[in-house]
Amino acid sequence: MTQDIIVIGGGLAGSEAAWQLAERGHQVRLYEMRPVKMTGAHVSHQLAELVCSNSLGSKLPDRATGILQNEMRMLGSLLMRCAEHAAVPAGGALAVDRARFADQVTSHINGHPNIEVLREEAREAPRNQPAIVATGPLTSPALAEDIGRLTGEDYLYFYDAISPIVRASSIDMTRAYRGNRYGRGQEAAGDYINCPLERDAYYLFVRALQAAETIELRDFEREDPNFFEGCVPIEQLAKRGDDTLAFGPMRPVGLTNPHTGRRPYAVVQLRQDDLAGDLYNIVGFQTNIRWPVQKEILRLIPGLEDAEFIRLGQMHRNTFLNAPALLHNTMRFRNHEHLYFAGQITGVEGYVGNIATGLLAALNLSRQLKGLRAWVPPPETMLGALCYYVTHTDPKHFQPMKANLGILPPLETKIKDKAARKRAYAARAAKSMLASLSELQDDLIMQPENLPERETL
Ligand SMILES: Cc1cc2nc3c(=O)[nH]c(=O)nc-3n(C[C@H](O)[C@H](O)[C@H](O)COP(=O)(O)OP(=O)(O)OC[C@H]3O[C@@H](n4cnc5c(N)ncnc54)[C@H](O)[C@@H]3O)c2cc1C
Repeated sequence: MTQDIIVIGGGLAGSEAAWQLAERGHQVRLYEMRPVKMTGAHVSHQLAELVCSNSLGSKLPDRATGILQNEMRMLGSLLMRCAEHAAVPAGGALAVDRARFADQVTSHINGHPNIEVLREEAREAPRNQPAIVATGPLTSPALAEDIGRLTGEDYLYFYDAISPIVRASSIDMTRAYRGNRYGRGQEAAGDYINCPLERDAYYLFVRALQAAETIELRDFEREDPNFFEGCVPIEQLAKRGDDTLAFGPMRPVGLTNPHTGRRPYAVVQLRQDDLAGDLYNIVGFQTNIRWPVQKEILRLIPGLEDAEFIRLGQMHRNTFLNAPALLHNTMRFRNHEHLYFAGQITGVEGYVGNIATGLLAALNLSRQLKGLRAWVPPPETMLGALCYYVTHTDPKHFQPMKANLGILPPLETKIKDKAARKRAYAARAAKSMLASLSELQDDLIMQPENLPERETL
């Protein structure tokens, strides 16, 4: 195999991608700009540096990250193997000695005869050569500008301003109601779920927001004057004035409450977030409030007292594509035949998810160059569900997503017991992944006899 492949970014996704390609016989040139040019968060020259927590999430086989880790093992991930060798005791979590982890990945990559590591900034995304761009949430400005030219500036974002997502079945519909503002576009019951607040409930909620402790921004986030433009967090709005929210994201006009026949003092609107209609995001509720407090405050909203949160709100510096408009669920860029994206820049969040998309992009680019059919992970697997989510949600409201059970398709039969339900999701994911691996046959780095036993679930 002689075709050179460029991988840009030697972080989690790029290191995994480079190694997967090299193992499949491709010659890889891996561009990593550190230490020549540093990001605002990395501190070393090592490949696969973990920028914050040293935990790759729960390793329990029935948790979202545990399921994804298991799938990565089945697919022969280098970084998962390095993580296991560098693991430190952390209860149910897979936590690593970060220096040891990065050392191991770096030496596997540096020592691979098919990989050449270039310590320089790539300022353009390749147009005429097979490539994977995996430059992460802190992609250098020059490259980000070029990616913006490639995708159209409206399709590249620089900040997460994430609103919380709630499981629809956990919303109390005896208090909430369906309906669109002024009944617009309303054919049946209405697209939005509305949670009405009367005067007292509204002020209780506003006081809680005003007093809430928020997550501190880091220096490189604070430096940017545009950070809050256009996406002011609700706690900041609450601090501007007691009624700011009631005239902003919580305005009640055109939303008469059918339970009372009156217009409430304020309304929290929830919009459908997934195709199945199981998940709803809270409209305009980007927030930086610390997570445990955030849950408590959101549960003050009538109808959300017992809400199950699939994702909580957060805001941070993050370069990411509007993946539903730009990427196939194989991680290939729609407008260029041999250009793939991987890692956090695709809108997949979390260390293991980033590693996973690196592996998937490499696998599919390699298959494409060999004339083989692209491999799409089944939707019942965590990898399949994540890739499906980021490439198929509504591009008008796209925000990144990390591994969680809420994005998996519902089970065929309802299971009431939460623990049993989690086990059922995990068992189905593993079964589905094993069945799908037969499609890959000789294209797997780790052969089936080395796969983990299904009984471990
Ligand atoms: C501050 C911060 C903290 C985070 N904390 C966590 C956490 O605790 N847990 C978690 O699960 N996730 C966390 N994330 C989210 C995400 O999982 C990590 O950022 C993860 O490292 C992303 O993996 P990646 O491979 O996409 O990018 P990275 O691991 O960041 O790798 C990208 C690489 O590309 C290089 N690069 C950038 N531009 C260029 C260029 N033009 N040319 C050459 N090289 C370039 C960078 O130097 C970097 O090495 C955090 C993100 C940030 C920004």
